[in-house]
Amino acid sequence: MTAPLHEVHPAGPGRALPDTQQGMRRRNLGRVLHTVSAEGPLSRAAVASRIGLTRAAVSTLVDELIRFGLLEELGPERPGRVGRPGSALAVSGRGPAGVGAEVGVDHLAVCAMDLRGRVRARAVRHVANRGRSPKPVAEELAALVRQVVADAEQQELWPAGLAVAVPGLIARDGRTVVRAPNLGWHDTDLGALLPGDLPLTVDNEANFGGLAELWLGDGTPRDFLHVSAEIGIGAAVVVDGRLLRGTRGFAGELGHVPVEPDGPACACGGRGCLEQYAGEEAVLRAAGVEQGEDRVGLLAERAAEGDERVRRALRDAGRALGVALTGAVNLLDPQLVVLGGALAGVAPWLLPSLEAELARRTAGPACPVAVSRLGPKGPLLGAAHSVVRAVLDDPAAVAERA
Ligand SMILES: [Zn+2]
Repeated sequence: MTAPLHEVHPAGPGRALPDTQQGMRRRNLGRVLHTVSAEGPLSRAAVASRIGLTRAAVSTLVDELIRFGLLEELGPERPGRVGRPGSALAVSGRGPAGVGAEVGVDHLAVCAMDLRGRVRARAVRHVANRGRSPKPVAEELAALVRQVVADAEQQELWPAGLAVAVPGLIARDGRTVVRAPNLGWHDTDLGALLPGDLPLTVDNEANFGGLAELWLGDGTPRDFLHVSAEIGIGAAVVVDGRLLRGTRGFAGELGHVPVEPDGPACACGGRGCLEQYAGEEAVLRAAGVEQGEDRVGLLAERAAEGDERVRRALRDAGRALGVALTGAVNLLDPQLVVLGGALAGVAPWLLPSLEAELARRTAGPACPVAVSRLGPKGPLLGAAHSVVRAVLDDPAAVAERA
């Protein structure tokens, strides 16, 4: 069995820390920073009680994190309380930032996120990337990264790493695109085409979408299946708060689960894959909606107006999703299915038939289905947040580089 790698940065800064005193100190720095990030502002005493270390030990760690510029003191907390007031601590809004990037079939996007999880700079370019060779796409993406980094630097932020979401199969080296059928790429070392001055991770967009849901979603459980329905359909399987990657890192290819064994041929080499029925292009074709910039918005508009052809196309897509998801739900027994990606925008017309199929076909009680609040922004936010989390996991490593 392959040793489990860190769920976000397979080769990056999140790797397991050594079991030495120094490793222990670094882990504890991470625990303090994570706690303040998740629950802050908090006093030193509150942090100590949450992580089960002495107040003195926490004070030393906090002082170090303040020196690194990763924590800030906001001043006395809760005046009027009996005893000496503790100073409330918050994660700094300056310093290291996560840079997330997305290579879409029809766009490129980049954003910079601070340690508080706020997007502080972003850039989007609508461009048809299907069939383009990887080199010019990477060059264009690198230009957007430079633009966003310059904007972030104006705000006293510096890039701690770059994470790129790609709609394709990514090798476990975290940089090679093995196959991206909707871009027409295969065996592309994207890492070699992007600037080498930042720690880099490339991952599948559906994985980043699922992780965004886990980290930034509203009360998302620790066992769920996240479906990213775009031009391609991908899924992320999250088990006990960790992404299930599979042996080669290719788990979650829901779009290529067969719905009709003898259906239309698919770019993957199979027939009747889910993508042929519920992928964005299949739905637009069935609905008679032209390809354009805000196609899903147009679908939603027509469906809301009562356009029966559009509504039928969405019902059929929901049914196909329900059939494919039944297989996954029966196999994995998740607590929740989350529908994300662009098609989350037409959920009101997809969900009834999807849920009906799930209810009819699952062995146990039907698995509930929720719609992602993050929608199409999930993969980009998940990518940026993966870098932020790597900083929170091992703040000392980042301080060394600052
Ligand atoms: Zn396929």
